[in-house]
Amino acid sequence: MAGPTWISGAERLGDGSIGGAMDSPNLPPRCVQHTVEAPAGRGWFLSMASYLISAGVEPQILYDPDSDSLGQFGPLNQSGRALRNAGSVRTNRTGKVCVQWEVCGRAAKPWTAGFDPSAKPNFLRAVAAMRAWGIPDVWPAGVPQAYPGDHDDRDMDTWLHRGGWFGHSQVPGNDHGDPGRIDTSKVPPAGTAAPGGGGSDGGVTREQDSINGLLYGYGAHGDHVTAVGRALVAAGFGAHYTSGPGPDWTDADSLNYRDYQRSLGYSGSDADGLPGEASLIRLLGALPSRETSRPSVSLSNVVAAARVDVPAPTGHLTHKADVLLVERALVAEGLLSASYADGSYGTRTVTAYAAWQRRLGYSGSDADGYPGQTSLSKLGDRQGFKVTS
Ligand SMILES: [Zn+2]
Repeated sequence: MAGPTWISGAERLGDGSIGGAMDSPNLPPRCVQHTVEAPAGRGWFLSMASYLISAGVEPQILYDPDSDSLGQFGPLNQSGRALRNAGSVRTNRTGKVCVQWEVCGRAAKPWTAGFDPSAKPNFLRAVAAMRAWGIPDVWPAGVPQAYPGDHDDRDMDTWLHRGGWFGHSQVPGNDHGDPGRIDTSKVPPAGTAAPGGGGSDGGVTREQDSINGLLYGYGAHGDHVTAVGRALVAAGFGAHYTSGPGPDWTDADSLNYRDYQRSLGYSGSDADGLPGEASLIRLLGALPSRETSRPSVSLSNVVAAARVDVPAPTGHLTHKADVLLVERALVAEGLLSASYADGSYGTRTVTAYAAWQRRLGYSGSDADGYPGQTSLSKLGDRQGFKVTS
């Protein structure tokens, strides 16, 4: 699902160009909350816009909770500039989208105190844009800590693999304490309708749940989501799809799943559109797992492609499918630019794989950029492929 690149009604700030393509567009969508560390108010909104441009640290969005001013420096589907990298992971470019908000306020004095989202139409527009990008209404690293905080909530695995709302204080590789303990029942506001309807008035939830190692519910992504959608359509519960099904779990999936749950006799919170184990088994015949839904990569094929000492395409392009899976995994880890994921195990891929090996603690000739069983299996465990000989 794709949301708007520019939010209707937002003021354009700067020249509209701040970043570039995301490094890992197959990781979940997320947004990041900052505070500008200045007071709220229209005057501060304008001066902070100039400051962020001159300092070259623009987020995509600038918001003032006092005047409900909403500004945008760059398109939502491109990277912002307000985060530091975490080693080789470019945090500004993590995920399908990584929409950063600078909010006029101070981390030590949470700006949500006294803030009424329902009286702030521009704020609701910005929230709707996050939802339109599939960013779930959850805080994967928890409620941001009160400033200054002890920063035990900057987990890399959470950052890479969970979609939702993050505080700058929760992003690995960063040392800032903003936005402070803002009220997460207002950011995003609970109970507000999703763009295009669905959401709460359909009685479906936007919570997620993990079953057998796979994530289901609003914002979940993958072939297993598509498989559920196809099974729902086949069983006669596809009425709410206008596109798809899959690979992103939207409100339409929840509504169709709710209809299916009702057909089983469930009601109330048991028919909220979020799969449970019993209903899922009845729908699919068996529970999918990460293992069964994984593609496989042949280690010997990848090694052969990497070691072939002749120019592409006769050499490097042998075993292209296996190499491509490895390269896509390196892209998702933030180690390889997407433009080099081409099925050819060239020097860029060698360099990226060497960085992966170093991340695992290898050094010297053990980090030579050529896959071994252990390093490739660890990459597959994180990025969803299995390794065969
Ligand atoms: Zn910040």
